[in-house]
Amino acid sequence: MSYDSYSLDDGLCPQCSAQADYFEEGLTCGWKCPACDWGVAATNPNDPAFDSTQYDVWVESRGQERKKVIATVAALMALNIKEARSLIDSGAAVAESLSRHEVLDLHAKLEAKDLGIRVEPEFPWLADATSSAD
Ligand SMILES: [Zn+2]
Repeated sequence: MSYDSYSLDDGLCPQCSAQADYFEEGLTCGWKCPACDWGVAATNPNDPAFDSTQYDVWVESRGQERKKVIATVAALMALNIKEARSLIDSGAAVAESLSRHEVLDLHAKLEAKDLGIRVEPEFPWLADATSSAD
């Protein structure tokens, strides 16, 4: 995690040298000192609203028959069975360059069909998303 120009290397308040607290609140993050009134705030780079990353998504079977996975992917992605099968067989992403919102939407749809997803690059907005780093 980077605090940019507000990095406190030692985590100590520059005003009174007390241990400062790092906080993130929605769109804001920063440091505040519990002992005096010192504090800094900046835009929180970890807030989902600032995520402009484009994500690729792979479907992960949870033990379902391959045929069933293909049928589900075909239905969800508006593909015919042949297209869905070659997509699954090739190991390619089922969807590319999705926004965070689109990934969450797709995840919800797949989750409803009891299919998992794998997202690259790392997708921090899903607690149960598996990443390649796991
Ligand atoms: Zn202080």
